[in-house]
Amino acid sequence: MFHIGYQDSDHRPGAPNLELQDVTVAYTAIGNSFRQDVHYALKNISFKAEVGEQIAIIGPNGAGKSTLLKLITGIIKPESGQILMFGKPTSQHNCIAYVPQRSQIDWSFPVTVEDVVMMGRTRQIGFFRRARALDKEVVRASLERVGALELAKKQIGELSGGQQQRVFIARALALETHLLLLDEPLSGLDLPSQEAIFKILDSLRADRVTVLMATHDLDLAAEHFDKIMLVNKRIIAFSAPEDVLSPENLLAAYGGKVASSEPHALAT
Ligand code: ADP
Ligand code: MG
Repeated sequence: MFHIGYQDSDHRPGAPNLELQDVTVAYTAIGNSFRQDVHYALKNISFKAEVGEQIAIIGPNGAGKSTLLKLITGIIKPESGQILMFGKPTSQHNCIAYVPQRSQIDWSFPVTVEDVVMMGRTRQIGFFRRARALDKEVVRASLERVGALELAKKQIGELSGGQQQRVFIARALALETHLLLLDEPLSGLDLPSQEAIFKILDSLRADRVTVLMATHDLDLAAEHFDKIMLVNKRIIAFSAPEDVLSPENLLAAYGGKVASSEPHALAT
């Protein structure tokens, strides 16, 4: 059997799994006058995520939730500030698994479920080496872990939204990761599919996998996560759910636009 959360020898003992120090992200939009408009998606973000913590990232549309996750994966680079994993800059780490928003994936791409999960092993396999027995075993175990083993030979486009989401979580697990980032995995899923995802996340607690998940759903965030990070370009609050979800904090993040039940309707 494989174990999720293997030990890297270069990890600083006692260092947080993830630490952002005063990180700012700018997007540059080139207008038709060729004038460059810089706008800040995230400003002066600092926080620590300890090993094994499960953290929900909430905030209105355009708050920078997806940007924050892409930043941690290294897909986008910060304008300024530092991102550390176990006390070291992230460029030295490969152990970040990222499940993008479903809308960002081309589901018509002709590929089987087991191929998708095997892609999560690219780092271990290398581009030109064929999958070894160990890789195949990890793929199998990852699919089993998310309850999707029987889907292995199916085309990815044939699956339901909930099944697709579980397969992408399996792909992330196949990386044997310390840190799992999920971008709105619940959006568009029915309740049983949402519950299946929370069951998987619960099972990762035993492996001390750190989880950061962007979501629109304040109620589910409060119910299932150790901490909530409320963002709107900056961190408005980052603490236990009951401390974060105060009327003042929600007003600061959403303006007058939030009621506790609204995020369900917002989910797209
Ligand atoms: P969220 O996921 O919370 O809805 P995003 O991280 O997607 O927010 O977006 C944050 C802000 O950055 C928004 O104002 C959005 O328009 C802008 N943005 C996101 N991606 C890009 C990009 N590639 N180029 C320019 N602006 C972007
Ligand atoms: Mg987003």
